[in-house]
Amino acid sequence: MAEKGTSHLPEGYCLWEMEETEFRLGLLGSGPGFLSILDIMSNPAIAEFLPPMTLVALAEPGSETAKLLDPRVRDIPVYATYEEMLARHPDINMLVELSGKRYRIKKIVAQLPDGVSFIDHTASFILCALNKFAAISATCRTNLDNQRALLEAVVNEVPEDIVVLDRQGHVADCNRNVMVRLGKTKEVLLGRPCWEVQAVRDDLPFCHPETKDCPFYTALRTGQKAEALETRVNKEGRLLYFRVYAYPVRDALGQIAHVLVMRRDITSRTEGEKRLQQSEKIGIVGRMSQYLAHEIRNPLFAIGGFTNSLLRSENLTPREREKVKIILEETARLDAILREILGFTKPGEGVVGEVDAVAVAREAVAALQGLYMPQDSSLTFEAEESLPWVRADADTLKRGIIHLIDNAYEAMGRPGAVIVRVFLNQGDVCVSVGDTGRGMPKDVLERVFSPFFSTKGGKGTGLGLAKLRKDMDDWGGSVEVASQEGKGTTVTLRLAAVLGVPATVIPGG
Ligand code: ADP
Ligand code: MG
Repeated sequence: MAEKGTSHLPEGYCLWEMEETEFRLGLLGSGPGFLSILDIMSNPAIAEFLPPMTLVALAEPGSETAKLLDPRVRDIPVYATYEEMLARHPDINMLVELSGKRYRIKKIVAQLPDGVSFIDHTASFILCALNKFAAISATCRTNLDNQRALLEAVVNEVPEDIVVLDRQGHVADCNRNVMVRLGKTKEVLLGRPCWEVQAVRDDLPFCHPETKDCPFYTALRTGQKAEALETRVNKEGRLLYFRVYAYPVRDALGQIAHVLVMRRDITSRTEGEKRLQQSEKIGIVGRMSQYLAHEIRNPLFAIGGFTNSLLRSENLTPREREKVKIILEETARLDAILREILGFTKPGEGVVGEVDAVAVAREAVAALQGLYMPQDSSLTFEAEESLPWVRADADTLKRGIIHLIDNAYEAMGRPGAVIVRVFLNQGDVCVSVGDTGRGMPKDVLERVFSPFFSTKGGKGTGLGLAKLRKDMDDWGGSVEVASQEGKGTTVTLRLAAVLGVPATVIPGG
């Protein structure tokens, strides 16, 4: 994630052209500051900031001759007076006075040849400070390098997408996860727009480029961290949940130069949370249905019975008879709904055991083929051979598959095709019911498993898929829904294979 900081100093702030000048130093005296100047000249960390400096000669070393033993000055010529030094070395263009004798400074300055700059011993404290600054900056730099290495390792290891975007939303940097997910190098990704890099499908950008209410634009606009929950349907028609965070990154002048955007795939966590909410809902429905059973079903039974006998009466006019008939039909409908709710909440009556999913699915298909078939539609069955048995309750599983086929028929235009397949996937036996129906928009896909969610008005209870998922959970399996609007839907029941059982040859398979 390393990025070179760009300087935002206004133009003309420092007129110094580093290559222009080389400072050729003559030192006068060896008082305080002498060793600092040697340090500065031999310190590569400072050399980076300063124009090149060379020590040419020394004059009047004074009494501190021990300093002259420093290996850095051992070969430098030493003169008794600075006048002699300047005369012998006309290339010296900076004289640094470290003798500490204030009264001479005026005189020295007055005698200084043209083109020679002068630093007196007081001003040379600035050089000492510079030296200290360089030492601190070297430590900081090491710390910074360590921090950067640590950060880079963390940023690259996290399983989230992290991109740094410029103000236009184009990628300035990204972490390894992004590159691996897209199978592209960083060079290819740099400069690409975020909606393209974040896409979960090749043929669809993550969002519309004109959408301005995403976390990126919010962070840019408000200067604050922004986040949002986003859902997308992938190529396979599966719903994905993302949490997107955007953090503004400011430059040295406090302006937002970049926005760091992190995207986390929270699909499985969200699934888990939803499941919990739904199972709580199922619990409430369970208790409520017991109440309904007693308080409504019994009177309903009475209404049904009396209406039936009323219908047999010969004193009814044809119009009255018609009305009584409606009462009877509606009573029957209410009773069916109550029965379905009771069936949903009551623990399964069937036995959970080892079941041949192929045989069960085949029976479910055969039952519907024999019963009814919408015109111009096909219902086909395919099964892999020698599949392991699964843990389930055969009757409930069959009813579940029939319900899926019902849903498929309901969603299908004419002509249409429903295909039921049984196959092995990742060690699980899968029963899938695919249709070429209308598919589901994203908001329906998000809620299909929610009890009582139905788009069919009075015709559906919205319990089919919720019940199926509850049963599958009980058997250690799961349900997956993949749907594309206008193309169709596939619901897959994933059943736990019974282990250690020899592969079974399916009769007639
Ligand atoms: P119901 O069938 O009573 O509405 P379900 O739980 O079976 O309840 O289904 C819930 C909703 O999911 C349906 O109302 C429908 O909108 C949607 N749905 C289920 N299966 C399909 C399918 N094969 N194609 C399109 N939409 C479907
Ligand atoms: Mg249904």
